[in-house]
Amino acid sequence: AAGETVVDLKGLGKDYGGVHANKDIDLHITGGEVIGLIGPNGAGKTTLVNMISGLAKSTSGTAQVLGLDPGKVAVHKVAAAGVSRTFQHSKLFARLTALENVMVGGHLVGRPTFLRRLLWLPSARRDERRLAVHSARCLERVGLLDKEGVKASALSYGDQRRLEIARALASDPSLLILDEPAAGMNHVEADALSDLIGSLARDGLTILLIEHNVGMVMKTCSRIVVLNFGQVIATGTPEEIANNPAVVEAYLGSS
Ligand code: ATP
Repeated sequence: AAGETVVDLKGLGKDYGGVHANKDIDLHITGGEVIGLIGPNGAGKTTLVNMISGLAKSTSGTAQVLGLDPGKVAVHKVAAAGVSRTFQHSKLFARLTALENVMVGGHLVGRPTFLRRLLWLPSARRDERRLAVHSARCLERVGLLDKEGVKASALSYGDQRRLEIARALASDPSLLILDEPAAGMNHVEADALSDLIGSLARDGLTILLIEHNVGMVMKTCSRIVVLNFGQVIATGTPEEIANNPAVVEAYLGSS
C-alpha cells in the first residue's frame, strides 16, 4: 500500500571474485513510488535488480523486499511475495498468441492447474478459464486487448515490449521491475509507455525502472537513483539529478 516499505537495502554489495558489481547500496522504496535507476553500462543496475528479485545473492549488507530477505529465499518465493519483472532481452514465446503469453505468466505463480488437470479435469478447465479472463484483463491494462489472438512474433516491437509488461502483471505484483522497457522504442511508443507506467503507479503499483532513455526516466519517475561503478552517486528528483554535477560528469554529459 502507499507509504509502506517495499524495498529496504542497507550496505548491499555483490562481489564477483574481486569485481564490485555493487557496493554499499542503501535504498529505500515506498509503496506507489516510481523510481528510476540510471547509470552507464556496467554500473551495476542489472546486478542490483537481480538481488532485489532474488536472482542474484548479495555478498554483503542486508535487504528486505516486501517483508522477505531475497538473498535468503528461493526466487519463486520472492515472486510469490509480489515481485515481478521484465528483462532487457525479450523472453516472449514467439509462436504463442499475446493472450497465451500472458497466461504463461499467470501459470508461473504457483496456480496448481497442472496437478489439477491430472486429478480433476472440470476444475482445471475452470481454472484455465479464470486464467484466460485474468490474462485478457492484463492485456487490456497495457492496451493490447485487440491483439489477444495475434502471435507474439507478428506484433510490432513496441507491442512486444508492452506484452512483456502485461505478462509481468499476470502475477498481480506489488513491485514491478522494468529492465530497459523503452530500449528500441520510437518517441511515440516511449511516450505511451511512460503514460502506462504512470497509470499503473496510480493503481498502487510500485515501479522500479531501469532505463537508458533519460528523457523518459525524467518524465516518468518521481525519484531517480544514479549508479556508477557499482555505487549510488546520487538520489533525487528528476530536477535534482539533472542539475547534479557528479551525475552530469559520470553519465548525462556523455549521453
Ligand atoms: P548494462 O547497462 O550494460 O546492462 P549494468 O549497469 O546493468 O550494465 P551489471 O550488468 O550489473 O551492470 O554489471 C556490473 C558489473 O558487474 C560489470 O563490471 C560486470 O562486468 C560485472 N558482472 C555482472 N555480472 C557478472 C558475472 N556474472 N560475473 C562476473 N562479473 C559480472
